[in-house]
Amino acid sequence: VAAVQARNVSKQYPGARGVQALSGITTDIPAGRFVSILGPSGCGKSTFLRCVAGLENITGGELLVNGSKVQGPPDGVGMVFQRDALLEWRNIRKNILLPVEFAKKRPQDYTDKVNHLLDLVGLSDFGHSYPRELSGGMRQRAAICRALVDDPSLLLMDEPFGALDAFTRDQMNFELQRIWMETKNTVLFVTHGISEAVYLGDVVMVFSPRPGRLMETITIDLPRP
Ligand code: ADP
Ligand code: ADP
Repeated sequence: VAAVQARNVSKQYPGARGVQALSGITTDIPAGRFVSILGPSGCGKSTFLRCVAGLENITGGELLVNGSKVQGPPDGVGMVFQRDALLEWRNIRKNILLPVEFAKKRPQDYTDKVNHLLDLVGLSDFGHSYPRELSGGMRQRAAICRALVDDPSLLLMDEPFGALDAFTRDQMNFELQRIWMETKNTVLFVTHGISEAVYLGDVVMVFSPRPGRLMETITIDLPRP
């Protein structure tokens, strides 16, 4: 089963002057791919991701995630936004455990998992720190741990490193690639940076604006380290 199947998907925002943000998007995204969604500002990349995440309703066509029609946030989907949205009053471990609590699972069963994730992103010493004590890059890494903690089959990232400086962004991209090598979950990664899209993606979906259309899907079959 494809991780994401879109059939002629369109999205018009409500209101008299509601923007047609997506039009005629048709694609099959196979499981286990790292898919970059590339295009200029305003071409509907975020809208597409938010529809896949069940945070927006599509207004035409059909959208399936893991074989089921999207109706509200689906199970098994993790999301990282441009700004990390960590809760300031919870320490890093407790922030990472939020999806576990939402899923009504036992946090104590996830101790090893959280340790492993913290280790993976170089935050082992910061589990008991509070978000304000961390740099921007470290906060974003914590947000990635949070998105991964409950083993999502689909990881959605909307310009997750857009607010970081170029050096830290490169570092984060490298780490993200390493994490993906280990987890091999399906990733949809939104960016307006061509080099980032091509460096990270197995597949690059190119959107064009007004209204957002899928112009091209490029598969990059480079051997991975
Ligand atoms: P991108 O992520 O590629 O920058 P977006 O999906 O954010 O593009 O936006 C696509 C179009 O939809 C833009 O014209 C934007 O102004 C419009 N749009 C985005 N979000 C909303 C919203 N919540 N309400 C109305 N219009 C929106
Ligand atoms: P930035 O996002 O500000 O560019 P990074 O996330 O790349 O910074 O952090 C660089 C390194 O600096 C971190 O791996 C960490 O070792 C150290 N560091 C940054 N902020 C702190 C902090 N508040 N406390 C301790 N070490 C920190």
